Amino acid sequence: MKLNICHLYPDLLDLYGDRGNIIALASRCRWRGIEPVIRQASLGEDLDFMGMDILFLGGGSDREQGLLVQDLMQREMELRSAIENGLVVLGICGGYQMLGKFYQMVSGEKIQGLGILDVWTIAGAKRLIGNVVVELDERLLGVNTKFRTLVGFENHSGKTYLGEGVMPLGKVMFGNGNNGADSEEGVRYRNVFGTYLHGPLLPKNPHFADLLLELAILRRGTGTRLMELDDRLEKLAHEVMVKRLLKQT
Ligand code: GLN
Repeated sequence: MKLNICHLYPDLLDLYGDRGNIIALASRCRWRGIEPVIRQASLGEDLDFMGMDILFLGGGSDREQGLLVQDLMQREMELRSAIENGLVVLGICGGYQMLGKFYQMVSGEKIQGLGILDVWTIAGAKRLIGNVVVELDERLLGVNTKFRTLVGFENHSGKTYLGEGVMPLGKVMFGNGNNGADSEEGVRYRNVFGTYLHGPLLPKNPHFADLLLELAILRRGTGTRLMELDDRLEKLAHEVMVKRLLKQT
């Protein structure tokens, strides 16, 4: 079996080693005998969103987000229909923001978003920076219930607010999350997941990587379930951080 994974704008949206999420997804495929077909694509390149299984967008500075907005807008119709057809998407920070209605920078200038997610982002003067622990919403526990949290690192001026028809990934136990006010972090809409967690996110949150892979495989209708992996090291890395951070609360 092959899984088609696309890393969009790897040259523009790749803060804090977010490409490590692609490495984690590819490794967790290979360890199960699934062949990951990784495609990198950026400005002006043709893409077949319907032929993809997972789309990844990393984090980026305001400047880079401004550079890619026109190109991204031209992809809105195709991406929207692929998402409505169950395409699995992971957007990190800037990549997350661009899936929403708009991102209003500190200057007041608005960067238009795809409007696929009913979320919007307004930058504040103070950047939200630091480690984050999230208690996952029960509905997201997926195949691997050994983990009930997400752990990562945030650095954003944008504060994101959720509208109707979307749900947060969970409740912030340490750090700021979406906006530092409503104790929510991230978003889910269908198979689209947005989060402020850099790190990269997936190596220390293998359960979340497997949730994305499981959804992509289920969408294929093959009925294949993911084989359990030996996540002892990943679990140790995850738990060390969760314990260290929650001790500080
Ligand atoms: N430029 C956006 C912000 O500052 C996103 C930052 C990021 O991707 N880390 O909120």
